[in-house]
Amino acid sequence: MTRQPATGERAAHRSSSEGQQAALLRIGIGALQEADPELAQILDAEVQLQNSTLAMIASASIAAPSVLAAGGAALSNVTAEGYPGARYHPGAQQFDQVERLAVERAKLLFGAKYANVQPHSCSSANLAVFAALMKPGDVLMGLDLDAGGHLTHGSRASVSGRHYRPVPYGLDSSGRIDFAQLTDLVAEHRPRVLVAGASAYPRTVDFARFREIADSVGAYLLADISHIAGLVAAGRHPNPIDLAHVTTTSTYKQLGGPRGGLILSGREFETPGPDGRTPLHQLMQRAVFPQSQGTPSPATIAAKARAFANASEPAFRETARLIVRNARALANELSALGYRILTGGTDNHMVLIDVTSVGLTGVTAERALEECGILANRNRIPGDTKPPLITSGLRLGTNILAQRGMGPDEMSTCARLLHTVLSATSTVSDTDYRIDPSLVAEVRDEVRWVCARHPLPIVVPGPPVPAPLTGVGA
Ligand SMILES: *Cc1c(COP(=O)(O)O)cnc(C)c1O
Repeated sequence: MTRQPATGERAAHRSSSEGQQAALLRIGIGALQEADPELAQILDAEVQLQNSTLAMIASASIAAPSVLAAGGAALSNVTAEGYPGARYHPGAQQFDQVERLAVERAKLLFGAKYANVQPHSCSSANLAVFAALMKPGDVLMGLDLDAGGHLTHGSRASVSGRHYRPVPYGLDSSGRIDFAQLTDLVAEHRPRVLVAGASAYPRTVDFARFREIADSVGAYLLADISHIAGLVAAGRHPNPIDLAHVTTTSTYKQLGGPRGGLILSGREFETPGPDGRTPLHQLMQRAVFPQSQGTPSPATIAAKARAFANASEPAFRETARLIVRNARALANELSALGYRILTGGTDNHMVLIDVTSVGLTGVTAERALEECGILANRNRIPGDTKPPLITSGLRLGTNILAQRGMGPDEMSTCARLLHTVLSATSTVSDTDYRIDPSLVAEVRDEVRWVCARHPLPIVVPGPPVPAPLTGVGA
């Protein structure tokens, strides 16, 4: 490989059929392995880890190879503030095309009239929307963090709860959004912005009902669909685009996209903002740039464009269907095994369980499962008596199980594996647990085998993994 001192690595040798970008990615990986084997080895091991681990992380999905490749494009080298056709730097011709493509695809996917693909995350998207619609001290209402809301919905731990006056709403005794309480709180506190959306809520969000309540006091409704964006795109959850004034989402959670956020608006895109004249779409554009972000991430936006196209394919809709069916099956299986399922079941991709019913804390359950190759994260549950790093709940999600091609039939295996670990774990303290090492080894073998039979779409098939001798979860 040619080396030139000024820049270190140089891309060289491209076969005639290979495009420049493809050659760059290939050569880049070669250079990484040669120049930095330490880093290359860690990144390689990560692919293996993802493939051989049973991830039931509700806030994650697997980005397709084409999404990852687009995210690694040389387009990343473009620095251009502003929007397509109105940049503050030269040299953005290709980037303009890519951003327009991403915007058009996002609009098409969600049936929106306006899309901003620049937010670096959904947190920054939410904060931008708030800054556009509220003055410091205005009332912001969101689902309480302990009830499953997100930090940016007015938690005191986030600037959203300090710059604005947060009034959280909660859940009723069945674990569902308490609309009676919400109606009263809205009438009393007259929020400027009402947020509908959650990070830990296994039930359908009734956006129409939220809109009625927002309208009763002239509040703006923000639908935050971070967790359910894939189901919304696939028609497996009601679409809030035309019900909310503004909708936000992460692009990596259920959309199989890169890290990032997205702001959308439908029928209300030209509705005036708080000044009574500036339309919402204009407010949102300014809210992202220049008010809260500098340069966008061009290759990430290319990856978003790719992910939005993927998400409009029939295969994505089929995966979304499986996600929901799997979650129901998993909830049923776990319920039959004696676990307390919050709200008694699920409508989406998520199953929340109370692990105190098996004598564990959220963190001991999470750690014991991870030791066995199963990923699910601790989660606070309504009325939780444990602090946020400990918790009493566990949040399971079926996004990645469905992406592996697993269906409801495989959920009994997943439930049994979970139960095998959780029932064999004993608590030493809130954070410490004990589990028999030979059981850990058995479950790990079983997990590896299950994963090998359902490889992730990012893995190149390798030699077959032998079936485990002891089928603990078979
Ligand atoms: C995860 C999440 C966010 C934040 O998303 P990031 O892109 O990680 O910043 C915002 N809102 C909800 C409801 C979420 O679940």
